[in-house]
Amino acid sequence: MTLSIQNIEKILHAKRFGNSNGIIDNVSIDSRSLQNNEKTLFFALVGPNNDAHIYISSLIEKGVLHFAVTNIPEGLSNKATFLVVENTLDALQKFAAHHRSLFKFPVFGLTGSNGKTIVKEWLNFLLSPDFNIIRSPKSYNSQVGVPLSVISINDKHNLGLFEAGISKMNEMEKLEAIIRPTIGIITNIGSAHDEGFVDLEKKIKEKLKLFKHSKLIIYQKNKVVDALINTKTKAFSWSYSDETADVFVVKKAIDDKTILQIRYGKDNFDIQIPFQDDASVENAVTCLMVLLSFKYDKKTIQNRMQWLYPVEMRLKVKNGINNTTLIDDSYSSDFQSLKIALDFLESQKQYKNKTVILSDIFQSGLSNEELYSKVSQLITSNKINRVIGIGETISTFKHKFKNCTTFKNTADFFLNFNYLNFINETILIKGARHFQFEEIVAALEEKTHETVLEINLNAISHNLSFFKSKLKPTTKMMVMVKAFGYGSGGFEIAKLLEHHKVDYLGVAFADEGIALKIAGINLPIMVLNPETTSFPSIIQHHLEPEIYSLKGLNAFLQLAEKRKLKHFPIHIKLDTGMHRLGFEEENLDELIATLKGNKFVGVKSILSHMATSDDSRHQDFAHSQIDLFEKLSSKLMAELQIKPIRHILNTSGISNFPQAQYDMVRLGIGLYGVSNDAEEQKYLENVGTLKSIISQIRSIQAGESVGYGRRFLADKPTQIATIPIGYADGISRHWGNGLGFVTINNQKATIVGSICMDMLMVDISEISCKEGDSVTIFGQSPSVSFIAEKLQTIPYEILTSISQRVKRVFYRE
Ligand SMILES: *Cc1c(COP(=O)(O)O)cnc(C)c1O
Repeated sequence: MTLSIQNIEKILHAKRFGNSNGIIDNVSIDSRSLQNNEKTLFFALVGPNNDAHIYISSLIEKGVLHFAVTNIPEGLSNKATFLVVENTLDALQKFAAHHRSLFKFPVFGLTGSNGKTIVKEWLNFLLSPDFNIIRSPKSYNSQVGVPLSVISINDKHNLGLFEAGISKMNEMEKLEAIIRPTIGIITNIGSAHDEGFVDLEKKIKEKLKLFKHSKLIIYQKNKVVDALINTKTKAFSWSYSDETADVFVVKKAIDDKTILQIRYGKDNFDIQIPFQDDASVENAVTCLMVLLSFKYDKKTIQNRMQWLYPVEMRLKVKNGINNTTLIDDSYSSDFQSLKIALDFLESQKQYKNKTVILSDIFQSGLSNEELYSKVSQLITSNKINRVIGIGETISTFKHKFKNCTTFKNTADFFLNFNYLNFINETILIKGARHFQFEEIVAALEEKTHETVLEINLNAISHNLSFFKSKLKPTTKMMVMVKAFGYGSGGFEIAKLLEHHKVDYLGVAFADEGIALKIAGINLPIMVLNPETTSFPSIIQHHLEPEIYSLKGLNAFLQLAEKRKLKHFPIHIKLDTGMHRLGFEEENLDELIATLKGNKFVGVKSILSHMATSDDSRHQDFAHSQIDLFEKLSSKLMAELQIKPIRHILNTSGISNFPQAQYDMVRLGIGLYGVSNDAEEQKYLENVGTLKSIISQIRSIQAGESVGYGRRFLADKPTQIATIPIGYADGISRHWGNGLGFVTINNQKATIVGSICMDMLMVDISEISCKEGDSVTIFGQSPSVSFIAEKLQTIPYEILTSISQRVKRVFYRE
């Protein structure tokens, strides 16, 4: 895409201020992307919690010259070119719709409750021998993701695959105008069983809006869809049960495969696919329908479909050997997803040195010459130190990259593995499937036992914006990352929070803050409980102490004077009823006298902490704390003539006492996906999933026992699975002996006998599973809150008890 600013001005019906002769070849909404440059048009989107207009001045400093805005920020009018529009999201969508209208090739629109991304990836795999395909990267299917995907179409493409996902009514029309699918695919619509007919009809009606202009719709035969389909659109349906469907399918499971017996018109034939679960089989049939509609012969269909593969949709962050961090994207290699992976690498960078291991890139629609020039530009703008290229094609373009080593294939790479010196760096591993980069990941990954705590970074971002949306736009956000981020990971989460531009981090002890600063976190960090002995290192690492007593204050002032500090930021804690730490009303005058006129420290904030913000039975007490905080903090501010940040609310405070937001709130447990309010819990996403595997399975007879002390006695023949996680990993022994359960293949397996130090045993008599299968200890089910309730404790304790020997693995959807 290359367009003149003049042209874009017309497309957007915008009012232009500034130069008219700019050329645009790239659109961005992410102020943090290193890919922004002088040919970028930046759309300053305005969301409920975020207004990108505030980043414009720093983007101008980084060389961005063109902006679509709703208003020009003060003082910038002669520094760049501005296209002023009513609504920047509408403008982005209009731009995409215009771009789409320039192309005439077949475009698939995919919608459905499940399976969109998998079907899209599989179709890409099945059709790529014959087409230059443009598809939405990952699951970019939102009001912002869809336009960004569509804008990437270029004139070498000849087939499009775009997902549409909606979260509110009436969003589908907008996506329709942008994707303009010529062929529609409904992947999975749920059934009238789980939602009632009226809801199902409403949902299908909404989804069908995507296909207003489509010539063909592919779907699993369903009376509701049949009735609602528009008369100009041809229906092409399949079914397992309804013989009037265009394609009738019988499925048979054999070994670990499924044979699909297909009846299509007069034709009968079999297809083999390497899956057995219902969802995969259904998705595969949907792909088959597309191949049939494109009139592929059955030989080709049989040939290609037997190679369908599990789609990995996540970018995983893993600890590697020799102090490295791995970003595992070893299942795809195309230009769009490379851009996304490089942005992710930037947001996660833990080391200054960055290496990218990259295979040949496919289906860019560009000539290789053009493609590798663009890849090289990307690599340079993302400040990658070293490129390791693997594949025949990338090897021929080695000269385009600065510090680059290439190998003809993955086996060659392994022959030289020991010379490549992977150490103290972040490594992005990105390759097309048949290069088998998963072997590279395996070789670079640090080895540990099979139990891991998986942390969903998207869920953290989601929960953060959920709580942000409850705040006034001016309220600042401190996030508590004490106790290793509530057990979920210290540095990685702090890095993500820095990326999201929260205002402050909070830790319990100086050590935690020092570790974060040394790892490269630049956000200000408040230390809740600084010991006097830690004051020198607090100063050295620019941490900010909470001061809660005269003794502490005097000790800190003494040191501050000795070090000749100027206005060193401190935080004054008031005790308003928690009776844990803080100045009380009677100390206030002495506090004021000590601080008055002192130039060595500056009161950055005044805070207090509530004892009952989560408990409506103690509402009166909570109000009395807030009132006392108002009174004491006002007095401090008046007498010291200061205007510090005031804050008193924790997570449940944010929800229950919105009027007491003051200037900042301190979010803790909510970020990690836990609320003490059942209604609010529905809006939060699960962050941590503690997983292990089945080590061994055995059968025992009635009368036999399991584990120490024979505390489980079988009363009938029973299947027992052993799982390598125990109380030393932080699983309470109280959770054993029939009270607790784990989840295996979506079914509950009760923990039998006593939990051991490193293992526990479960009853799997009713569950189909095998050794090596994955086991969920907590996550979606059982949830941390559920376990806490049964154990008569709180989710905080469950989360923070998981021992450090359990590896944390971070991922993004
Ligand atoms: C831990 C803590 C918080 C956060 O509490 P949550 O209930 O997890 O939101 C806030 N303020 C202080 C002083 C804390 O110690």
